[in-house]
Amino acid sequence: MKVILLRYGEIHLKGNNRRFFENALLKNIKSTLNGETFKLQHISGRYLITDYDEKREYAIIQKLVCVFGLHSISPAVVVENEPELILAECKKISVTGKFRVTTRRASKIFPIKSMQFSAMAGEVILDNCPNAVVDLHEPDTVINIDIRENGYTYISTQTIPCAGGMPVGTAGKGLLLLSGGIDSPVAGYFMAKRGMTIHALHFHSFPYTSELAKQKVITLAKLLSKYTGAIKLSFVSFTQVQEAINRNCDRDYMITIMRRIMMRISERLSKDVGAGAIITGESLGQVASQTLESITSTSAVTSMPIFRPLIGFDKLDIIDIARKIGTMETSILPYEDCCTVFLPKNPVTKPRLDRVEREESKLDIDKLVNDAYDTLETIDISPEY
Ligand code: ATP
Ligand code: MG
Repeated sequence: MKVILLRYGEIHLKGNNRRFFENALLKNIKSTLNGETFKLQHISGRYLITDYDEKREYAIIQKLVCVFGLHSISPAVVVENEPELILAECKKISVTGKFRVTTRRASKIFPIKSMQFSAMAGEVILDNCPNAVVDLHEPDTVINIDIRENGYTYISTQTIPCAGGMPVGTAGKGLLLLSGGIDSPVAGYFMAKRGMTIHALHFHSFPYTSELAKQKVITLAKLLSKYTGAIKLSFVSFTQVQEAINRNCDRDYMITIMRRIMMRISERLSKDVGAGAIITGESLGQVASQTLESITSTSAVTSMPIFRPLIGFDKLDIIDIARKIGTMETSILPYEDCCTVFLPKNPVTKPRLDRVEREESKLDIDKLVNDAYDTLETIDISPEY
């Protein structure tokens, strides 16, 4: 019988935490595989997917490599703990190049010791694979024979690395400020990787920004949801805020004030949806609004924690990750973002808080925040495969 073995890290798991972690992981695996037929079993420190459609094996694995909390996956064959049965399966294995066999014998009633059994299995494989050689130190392929106490042996020839991290749902909820750019989806990815449930928020400036720009954000959220699971995506119109700042304030302070108003609206939404932190894609020094002084003046309007997982990353490193997680292509589609509308020529890079506050006093901030919040709409996003 074919099965898929799922391994998860056990390092940080103690006492009751372990149960909490496992339950969240189990729930996430099930919802990721929603629509597939399968059974899920728990065997010490691992999950086992059985009774699935073998034609769907690749698709199932593709989905599971994105589930945070899983460390690696191996498609495997399972037989009873009988030496002849195991060796018969080894006969079917085809390898080329350097390989080794690693036997783990959790069941001590199995009559042959691990090392000896690995050698026996190696011989059987060599007999059938003329282009294979044993290399214990630098093998290209490791064949794992896992002889378990439950009476079954799992034989696998492939270990596929997964996303790692902690299961989503184990570290509270974060409100991700999702622009259409490269950075914010990556920021959301990292916080979800630490177990945060994500609620995304996008500010648009319709009609200055287009319907296509909105679609782009929806696409980004869908790509991200392969990792985060189903999420909510909210939209708030920022048009009136921008027009008001444009009319009333020194244009060089436009971005600083915009970002402070974004934070106030974000705090409001966070309270309403139970988010305990705001997440942004900011990276120190990347643009005028991301200097230490700008970040300080943005943070000053809220007492909520603001998580900026990319703060110390180079742009090129962020781009690499965006490519790896599959958001890059969408992020670089050329639609206007609300921040590029009314962009000042010389944004201040070191806004002074007293100056910012003076400029802001020309606005009815509470009304702007309330009116913007009234435009809130929220949609459900789930992954598309
Ligand atoms: P990104 O690549 O994520 O767009 P950026 O390098 O363009 O980031 P900024 O435009 O200064 O930088 O935005 C910094 C952060 O502010 C973004 O990473 C995002 O978290 C948030 N943000 C910016 N614009 C929006 C928006 N229209 N809606 C929601 N969040 C936004
Ligand atoms: Mg941007």
